[in-house]
Amino acid sequence: MRPNGTAAHAERSGVIKFTNCLLVKGKELVNDDLWVSSATGKILNGQEILYGQRTAPDSIVDLGGRILSPGLMDVQLNGAFGFDFSLIPEDGAAGYSKGVQRVNRNLILRGVTSYLPTVTSQRPDVYHTAVPYLGPSGASRDPSLGSESLGAHIEGPFINPAKNGIHKIEVLQTAPNGISDMLTCYGASNLASPPVKLLTLAPELPGALSCIQSLRERGIIVSIGHSDATYEEAKLGIKAGATKITHLFNAMKPLHHRNPGIFGLLGTESSSISKPYFGIISDGIHIHPTSIKIAWNAHPDGLILITDAMRLAGMPDGTYDWTNGSRIIKKGHLLTLEENGKIAGSSIELIDCVNNFLNWTRASVPEALKAVTETPAKMLGMEDVKGTLKEGADADLVVLDFQVGEVGAEKKLVVDQVWKFGVKVFDRE
Ligand SMILES: [Zn+2]
Repeated sequence: MRPNGTAAHAERSGVIKFTNCLLVKGKELVNDDLWVSSATGKILNGQEILYGQRTAPDSIVDLGGRILSPGLMDVQLNGAFGFDFSLIPEDGAAGYSKGVQRVNRNLILRGVTSYLPTVTSQRPDVYHTAVPYLGPSGASRDPSLGSESLGAHIEGPFINPAKNGIHKIEVLQTAPNGISDMLTCYGASNLASPPVKLLTLAPELPGALSCIQSLRERGIIVSIGHSDATYEEAKLGIKAGATKITHLFNAMKPLHHRNPGIFGLLGTESSSISKPYFGIISDGIHIHPTSIKIAWNAHPDGLILITDAMRLAGMPDGTYDWTNGSRIIKKGHLLTLEENGKIAGSSIELIDCVNNFLNWTRASVPEALKAVTETPAKMLGMEDVKGTLKEGADADLVVLDFQVGEVGAEKKLVVDQVWKFGVKVFDRE
């Protein structure tokens, strides 16, 4: 209760005006102001405030001509800062919960304001313990909690053993009885949205198509991945309700001119099938830059840059213990399994993926940022809340310095500031 009218009048409105900045709007960088509320954590209608309510901002933030973008979103992050979403620590659920919170607090400092914590193929007990801690974490709208989970991404274990990548073959499953097999595996209370937002599976496995339909009914988005599907099998997956491809090119058949495989979905558009969204790891290790260009040109509105990073992101080079007794060698961004030299994931940061994409494709800055803001938000059905500077969306923002060297030199976006729910949580200065 307010003590009196005067005090109420003196209360700060929490309105912030960003000025002298380039806003990322569609394909353009627009020289305009942006108004946000640190009280509601949302983006405001500047015109309405100026001319309707005649409210003066509490504070004006002059960005000195820098870029103001929606916060970055990573829909495939397996772990970071020494924590692995697929590994239950020795102290069990309590330690797991603390580890997730630690990732959230550190991740936001890199410009990633929301993400999908990702669990790889595991035995059922891992899902039963982990998934309850990975659901959407933004309900309290507390900026101090760091990056916000939008729900879990569950990758496997209903994937093809022929395309397992680093997933352990012995934990892989099929679902001949449809969704009931999945309920047993993940736990009935976990297999809903929330806590699960996205699920990667191989559509050619027994029971997979009926699972896709059941998952969609539960509000879970389905992505095709770690799959040996032919083009025809992949199309059936899309018809059943899948809307995305997990790390396109990796852990699937390569494009063949007589059997285009999963990649062929990017050339498909009909009344019954729309082109799926697709994740791309632009780390210079997983995919050749030219393949990325081809995919982007085939379906520019579907491309989502992901890190697929794991817990060694940010750690020094060396050999590290992995799960089930294997070990991983880290050299720069490259991670390989010691036992067979297979690519074992990535340790790249999302802003570096954006920078690689910028330099490899000649995409404009807004086009590159779209792949980590607007497009993932649309894929998740959250385009009015995340990944946009539209009025009413969450004020999750990054201030980016665009550094361009001499002619022909690398272009680079640097994360200068991060704002979560209208509150500044990181400043590089
Ligand atoms: Zn994978």
